[in-house]
Amino acid sequence: KLLQKFKDRAAQLDMPMAVRKVFDEELNKLASLEPSASEANVTRTYLEWITQLPWGVYTPTRYSVEAARQVLEEDHYGLKELKERILEFVAVGKLRGSLESASSVAPKQDSATSSSDSDGSTTPPPPAPTPAPQSDRLPTPEGKIILLHGPPGVGKTSVGKSLARAVGREFFRFSVGGLGDVAEIKGHRRTYVGALPGKIVQALKRVGTSNPLVLIDEIDKLGRGHNGDPSSALLEMLDPEQNREFLDHYLDLPIDLSRVLFVCTANNLSTIPAPLLDRMEVLEVSGYVSEEKRVIAERYLAPQAKASAGLQDADVVLERSAIDSLIKWYARESGVRNLKKMVEKIFRKTALKIVQDLGEEKLPEPPLPADAAAAAVTPATEPSTDSPVTPLTQPDPEHDQKIHPTTTEKRAPLVIPPSVHVRITADNLKDYVGPPVYQKDRMYEGPGRLVKGVSTGLGYLGNGSGAVMPIETITTPGKGSLILTGKLGEVIRESAQIALSWVKAHAYDLRITSSPDEQWLSNRDVHIHMPEGSIGKEGPSAGTAILSALVSLGSGVGVRGDVAMTGEISLAGHVLPVGGLKEKILAAHRAGIKTILAPAANRADIEENVPDSVKEGIKLIYVEDVREVLKEVF
Ligand code: ATP
Ligand code: MG
Repeated sequence: KLLQKFKDRAAQLDMPMAVRKVFDEELNKLASLEPSASEANVTRTYLEWITQLPWGVYTPTRYSVEAARQVLEEDHYGLKELKERILEFVAVGKLRGSLESASSVAPKQDSATSSSDSDGSTTPPPPAPTPAPQSDRLPTPEGKIILLHGPPGVGKTSVGKSLARAVGREFFRFSVGGLGDVAEIKGHRRTYVGALPGKIVQALKRVGTSNPLVLIDEIDKLGRGHNGDPSSALLEMLDPEQNREFLDHYLDLPIDLSRVLFVCTANNLSTIPAPLLDRMEVLEVSGYVSEEKRVIAERYLAPQAKASAGLQDADVVLERSAIDSLIKWYARESGVRNLKKMVEKIFRKTALKIVQDLGEEKLPEPPLPADAAAAAVTPATEPSTDSPVTPLTQPDPEHDQKIHPTTTEKRAPLVIPPSVHVRITADNLKDYVGPPVYQKDRMYEGPGRLVKGVSTGLGYLGNGSGAVMPIETITTPGKGSLILTGKLGEVIRESAQIALSWVKAHAYDLRITSSPDEQWLSNRDVHIHMPEGSIGKEGPSAGTAILSALVSLGSGVGVRGDVAMTGEISLAGHVLPVGGLKEKILAAHRAGIKTILAPAANRADIEENVPDSVKEGIKLIYVEDVREVLKEVF
């Protein structure tokens, strides 16, 4: 009976020859085994797997630029360049797909749409599968994979999901953050007890098609393998040169992954193994200015949060003044994740308040609608498949929406009486979210000059966001040595050494000492500290800021409080170019900085790549030499 079931299933599938052969072998083996033997069990499970994979099943990619544009706009505000790039992909696919359709495999009609619920209702099952184009690779000449890079909470993961919807592909998210076991990618050998295929095979089974969009999330946080190297396993899976015949240890069969559309996300490019990064096309997703955040909150976050708090029909308004206040005093970040959390909290609190104020029993409760009543009698249980799949990792709410409790909801929503009116403004905001997280723009601020020995630097953090970083210096009795604190990396320590040497060498010109022979700090130590939490700081870009702080320390004159700076310095006093300027400028905005000193060598880059909306309200001064820096800050 069981054998027949497998045969029936196999008959529906378009298995490649090699798979067919293995299938027949295993089936014969199962027939010859005692059903109670443990080996029979292993074989049965194996047959379950290979008969549940979507061999030859493809979702027709929806190559409509207009439809894709609409989906992208619906899900995300802004991100203009990124969206353009996605539309280019769709357009090229449209052109190429029509050329190549003749040579491609015809998909099986029946099973193509059966299990396409992994992305909730957002991806309507295609009415009639059409031949898939030969390759759905991105149209870059090298066949690269998209990598979305940017600071936390700017929408990388959610754009990945939206992209799947835009091109009508099934979606699967695979987070590799902290993953250290190759078996998660390549599967266990079948001889293991409780062996499972790797994540990508599980993904194919779950989505039910061979060309889903697979989002490899947090690829920069890939763990170090204790057995095998996960990054080379990942490379095997992603590399268009290799993945036509990806070998899963469990299946022990080559699987064609060449039509899977891989999209990766990362905060930090420097921790991505080079062979992987080489094969990717990096698309920058950068932070938002406060005006953009406000629009995101008004058009996306607030309506979503309001609906999910059950308040969509209630007269509850989160006013602009409250949103602005949230952005400035509560959620100072590159992205909008904390802002989103705050907005959600506000609507939840409002819901609680409304229910409490009215008194629960006074709220009119409408009768159950007929279908809901029926559902209450016969609880809709998920048809249990006889599949052996248990997720390797935690269920993931981002791609499996069924775990949300909406399916068990049997009661109709309460009707909120029209007498309820709630206004959340900047003035009553703290009733909802408590006192502001920030009390002022930044640790050291104007008007006028800062205290002696302090300056304002701009840093680029490992998570991809920019930050305004004050630099503090003092001297203590000692003999001219340098003390550095604030979780500083090797390179930043070198910058400090260079800055100190330069100031010592020019102490007389700078009027720190009164004669050319006198030595600055002959009997003092200098201590440099970079506060701002316990975040590790690395990179050479603090050079100009450290130098300014030291000159202020020596001369006793405070630096201007409204100026922040970034730039590497050389011993000769040249200011050298640095990275992360866009995020740094955004950070300056958040901290209320008005003037930025940037390396002259970054000018072209800034003028070309940083949008005007980001530069607005900030005066950029380009410097080539540290003397120009000193002229501006004193
Ligand atoms: P991380 O690097 O921490 O993983 P991320 O870039 O993946 O961050 P997401 O989780 O995708 O961030 O985004 C956080 C939330 O902000 C999501 O709910 C997303 O929908 C929302 N969001 C981000 N950008 C936008 C935007 N431009 N328009 C609408 N919503 C946005
Ligand atoms: Mg993410």
